[in-house]
Amino acid sequence: MEQRIRVLVAKPGLDGHDRGALVVAQALRDEGMEVVYTGLRQTPAQIAAAAVQEDVDCVGLSCLSGAHNELFPEVVRLLKEQGADDILVVGGGVIPQEDIPFLKEHGVAEVFTPGTPTSITADFIRAHVKRKRMTFQKAPKKIAHIGIAVKNLEAALPFYIQHLGLTLLGTETVESEQVRVAFLGIGGSRIELLEPTSADSPIAKFIDKRGEGIHHIALDVEDVEERLRSLQTNGIPLINETPKPGAHGSQIGFIHPRAAGGVLFELCQYPDAAAGKEEGKHE
Ligand code: ZN
Repeated sequence: MEQRIRVLVAKPGLDGHDRGALVVAQALRDEGMEVVYTGLRQTPAQIAAAAVQEDVDCVGLSCLSGAHNELFPEVVRLLKEQGADDILVVGGGVIPQEDIPFLKEHGVAEVFTPGTPTSITADFIRAHVKRKRMTFQKAPKKIAHIGIAVKNLEAALPFYIQHLGLTLLGTETVESEQVRVAFLGIGGSRIELLEPTSADSPIAKFIDKRGEGIHHIALDVEDVEERLRSLQTNGIPLINETPKPGAHGSQIGFIHPRAAGGVLFELCQYPDAAAGKEEGKHE
C-alpha cells in the first residue's frame, strides 16, 4: 500500500570525488528510501532526464567543484521545463553559507553542508517530498465515534439515555487524554461524551476556548500507524505522528484540525483488527 520514497543522487559538474555522495546514497537507503545514483560528471540535462525517467520524488545534488550556483538552478529549471517541478531538489557538498540563499531562491529546497547528520537530510526529504505516492485509496471502515466535550458526564448523560434512548455501554478513564469517557451505542458506531479529569486535559482547554460541544470525529481504520506516516509524508499536519493508546485498547492518532477546515479527526484502530493480523501470522 505504501511506496518508498525514490531519490536520485547526482553529481553535476566536473569534480571527480563521489565518496560524500555515495555515503549519502547509502544513508538514505538505510533510512528506507530507494536511491538511484547517476555516477560522476553528469550534466544538468542528464540529471533532469534521469530524474523524470526514474520517476523519483527527490533529486539530491552534490557538488564540490564550486560550480553549484550554475549547476543546481539549471537542474531545477530543466525539471520545471519537463513538467516535473514537483520533484524536490536538495543540495550538498562544499557550499559556502553565503551561496545558500541564492540557491534557495532558485528552487533548491535545502542545502546540507558537510557534517550534517544524514538523518536530518532524510527527515527533511520525508517531510517535503511533494509527490503524492503514499495516498490511501482505501476508505476508513466507518465512523467509530463522535466525541462530544462535556463539563460533567452525569449532568450530560440523561439527555442521551432518557430522551434519545441510547444505551450507555460503559465509562472509562483514558489517562493519555486525561478524560473520563461515557460510551453510548448507536448502530455500529458510538457517541462518546468526554469529561476532562484535569485542567491540563485537551478537553478542558477545548471547553475553555469554545465551550461544550462536538470535539472530534473518529474514523475506524485498519492501520493507524501506516496512515499517520502516509499523511505526514503528504504534508498533512498531525497532532500525533505515531499512535498512542486510546479507550478499549485502541491505538489512536489525531490529525490537526488545520487539515480539515477546523474539524478534528481521530484515527482509531481497534484490537480486533490487530488480532486478525496476529492470527494470520500463526497460520
Ligand atoms: Zn475519540
